[in-house]
Amino acid sequence: MSLWTSTLIGLLCLTAFPAQAQELSYDSKPTLLEEADRPAEKLPRRLDFRHKDFELTQAYQDVFQILSDQNACSSFYGGPRNATTVLNDFVPHVKAHRLLKELSFQMTGRPIMIHNPITGLSYRLFDTATVNSDGSFYRRRLDSLRRFPADVGSFPPGTRQARALILLHELGHLMEGQDGSWLIPDDGHDGAVSNRNTLLVQRACRVQLEALK
Ligand SMILES: [Zn+2]
Repeated sequence: MSLWTSTLIGLLCLTAFPAQAQELSYDSKPTLLEEADRPAEKLPRRLDFRHKDFELTQAYQDVFQILSDQNACSSFYGGPRNATTVLNDFVPHVKAHRLLKELSFQMTGRPIMIHNPITGLSYRLFDTATVNSDGSFYRRRLDSLRRFPADVGSFPPGTRQARALILLHELGHLMEGQDGSWLIPDDGHDGAVSNRNTLLVQRACRVQLEALK
């Protein structure tokens, strides 16, 4: 069964170029978990990722730092507490594997819905979250005539800014806005939508991303 027809395909997040049609489907209705045991006000602690690779660890730390402050980027995700809470639940599940070159990140499987009745925070997590070990997160584009690995928004692939933007894009798929819709729409079917999503996140987080050295 090809990647495109598998029923396990969830969100296929492309980088800068549309690819062929992709399928977004879920196995069944999401599971609902109640999370009532977290403090309502305190920010979660920054996680220690000694077992993860350098690039993923640095990207997590950069994004955690960005989202810990009150700024336009953290506001896009509902504020520092909500943003860092979901980031901390999401990143430990991320694994690096080789994917199609068009993909920078892929989330698949049945989404689990999590709701904290104290904070009102609702978000989802997928069974698997895979960052492409051969894509724009890790690899720089050594040959300017090649299209891949592609830019991430306006940032060259393999840069600190590109990696942070990839994580921020995925975070947007996991979190609900005030109107109950996802912060960015599902884009597993459509590379153009994925690119628009990346630019939407980049617009909210540009100042913080450009400050990364
Ligand atoms: Zn996406």
